[in-house]
Amino acid sequence: MYGFSVAIVSARPLPGDPYAAHAQAVAALRRSYDDIGAGGSVRLNKQTSNLFRFPAASQKVRRLDVSAFDHVLSVDPVARTADVEGMVTYEKLVDATLAHGLMPFVVPQLKTITLGGAVAGLGIESSSFRNGLPHESVTELEVLTGDGRVIVARADNEHAELFRGFPNSYGTLGYTLRLTIELEPVKPYVRLRHLRFDNAPELFEVMDRVCAERVYDGEPVDFVDGTVFSPDEQYLTLAAFVDQAPQVSDYTGMAIYYRSVQQRSVDYLTVRDYLWRWDTDWFWCSRAFGVQQPLVRRLWPGRYRRSDVYRRLVAFDHRHRLTARLASLRGKPQEEYVVQDVEVPIAETAKFLEIFHRDVGIEPVWLCPLKLRAPDPWPLYPLEPEQLYVNVGFWSTVSLQPGQSDGFYNRLIEETVGALGGHKSLYSSVHYSADEFWDRYNGAAYQALKQSYDPAGRLPDLYHKVCAPSVKE
Ligand SMILES: Cc1cc2nc3c(=O)[nH]c(=O)nc-3n(C[C@H](O)[C@H](O)[C@H](O)COP(=O)(O)OP(=O)(O)OC[C@H]3O[C@@H](n4cnc5c(N)ncnc54)[C@H](O)[C@@H]3O)c2cc1C
Repeated sequence: MYGFSVAIVSARPLPGDPYAAHAQAVAALRRSYDDIGAGGSVRLNKQTSNLFRFPAASQKVRRLDVSAFDHVLSVDPVARTADVEGMVTYEKLVDATLAHGLMPFVVPQLKTITLGGAVAGLGIESSSFRNGLPHESVTELEVLTGDGRVIVARADNEHAELFRGFPNSYGTLGYTLRLTIELEPVKPYVRLRHLRFDNAPELFEVMDRVCAERVYDGEPVDFVDGTVFSPDEQYLTLAAFVDQAPQVSDYTGMAIYYRSVQQRSVDYLTVRDYLWRWDTDWFWCSRAFGVQQPLVRRLWPGRYRRSDVYRRLVAFDHRHRLTARLASLRGKPQEEYVVQDVEVPIAETAKFLEIFHRDVGIEPVWLCPLKLRAPDPWPLYPLEPEQLYVNVGFWSTVSLQPGQSDGFYNRLIEETVGALGGHKSLYSSVHYSADEFWDRYNGAAYQALKQSYDPAGRLPDLYHKVCAPSVKE
């Protein structure tokens, strides 16, 4: 089924040598970066985004066209590596690597997340308990730095500090234009086991053991994640590569993956459908658009059952404040968006969920264990090596009660996560004070990198970019 040759893959054919075309695109980008000059906010001009921060309509930005950087330049099935431009979506990257029986070490669940976005803004998936985070399988980064140079950063060259400080820099030190990543072999199918638990401590006890042993009930485990429907209905999903499947399920049509977790104890998917199992319904968030009701689902074209389509709808709603205005007209309370992914040490995760169920109350909740692959922490997102964390993801709204202002619930979550020794991803709203933020995200290391790679501040500062709600990405 899988070939073994070096392949050049791209959405539209590149004339001649793809590396020559890449070099031309780099030269053109440098010129346009020089042309836009300094000051204000730079925005990457790209088709998709998975951030959950929305710009103020009035905000002035300078756009940097990076649309040329969307090619998988090569896949080397022998070395098990791929050379990829920074704006390549994981959807395209996975198609290119699966053709060789390989996949990236970690494939974030949303199809339009790009490799550059997952490295600059972090990512996670169910292989993270054994493979760490997406940036941990990057061996080389080509970066357009804030001061306009194009450099290659590796763990062992003069730009090693940038290489290690790039993850969680969110495009404030530079933009990555090309990355070399490691790949791992796959089998054609994935067998899933959904185990039900009626309490969190028991689930985390099993999760901890499975992540250490990579086996459950005598069968290997390659992927681990979990879904919490309520305090007494939670599932651990253990999955493994298999060569054969008696039949395979399809959750891109009328059936809905997250519901299958409650309905089946064993399931089979093709490896591609496994990787994208959460995308079709944006985990469960498609229900906000009625897409999970059979009639609407039948009428909603299949090609639009995708996370990027739902995200565009949410962005439109934000831009025009439609839901907020409707709530005002009806005399209903305003809703606060509580869309976050946090990492909590596994020993504290049951406690986190207890507080979360009591004070926030969003359901379902996604769980995903992760452990750093590297022996040393990554400076700007200082997770402890050897510590198993659980990523807890929740993406919904909470009604504000009288006396509560927008940010109340997000702040409560930030405080709870901090008190439990956890960390919070920065793709959504962030409410820390500057001091607290730099304390958590290693201000000293960041300022040193900013001084080396963007001394004139042509790109925004990280705190300013992620904490100020009106800053355009
Ligand atoms: C509801 C929701 C659920 C999510 N769940 C998950 C999840 O389960 N797993 C997961 O892995 N992630 C998840 N994410 C987060 C997502 O991975 C991050 O937001 C990621 O940074 C998005 O990548 P993108 O390619 O879409 O980048 P964009 O959204 O376009 O940009 C993200 C940031 O990275 C910067 N950036 C983009 N490309 C580059 C580049 N080439 N070089 C330098 N900087 C760059 C941008 O300037 C911006 O600041 C979720 C997000 C949402 C909204």
